[in-house]
Amino acid sequence: MVCSSLAATAGAFNVPLKCTPEETKHFVEPAMKEAEGFNFTGALEVVNDGLNAHPASEGLLFLRSYFCYKIADSISSELSTLPQPIQPLGEGVLMVDGAMTNQMLGRFQEIVKVLGDAEEAINEILQVNPHNNEVTAFRAYIDSKLQKLGQESENMRVTFTNTPNIAGGFCVGCRKNISFDTQTVVFRKTPSTQLEVWHLPCFKQLGNKN
Ligand SMILES: [Zn+2]
Repeated sequence: MVCSSLAATAGAFNVPLKCTPEETKHFVEPAMKEAEGFNFTGALEVVNDGLNAHPASEGLLFLRSYFCYKIADSISSELSTLPQPIQPLGEGVLMVDGAMTNQMLGRFQEIVKVLGDAEEAINEILQVNPHNNEVTAFRAYIDSKLQKLGQESENMRVTFTNTPNIAGGFCVGCRKNISFDTQTVVFRKTPSTQLEVWHLPCFKQLGNKN
């Protein structure tokens, strides 16, 4: 039974929700109300309660995947407003804010986890109803998001973990130890050395002397 459609809130995904009038009244409608106020975590809680009572509800499963996706999407747009933790400064210089990189990698993990939950819910629907084109299209969309994010966070992680191994653990300026996890550092490639690493303040002092 098709009792409502996601078109009103989703825009892009016009998926008919299959659920009973009781599911609609107690879970779908209250969840949509939360979603209208952009409280996707609240909406997901309502849907999860519904799934505890009606584990096979296709409509609720789809809403679960949709709200997981919306949560991932809002973390992702929040991240895009932050300054980039790894920034090329030109002339072979790369600035890395360790604390922020760590924080961002943690947020990436959260996104990947909720997108994984979204995919799991979709797979449950497709087991029951394998030829649902809208749901299949939504899964393809989530898949592409997951791949893109996976690549992005992998690139960041590799830069973050490999560069210190190459550059060593001591600042060229003050000769003191560097805490890559918490400090902001600058990597510089010079013709005479392999790769130098500086504390950001030490690197700035160098600029002032020249
Ligand atoms: Zn230093």
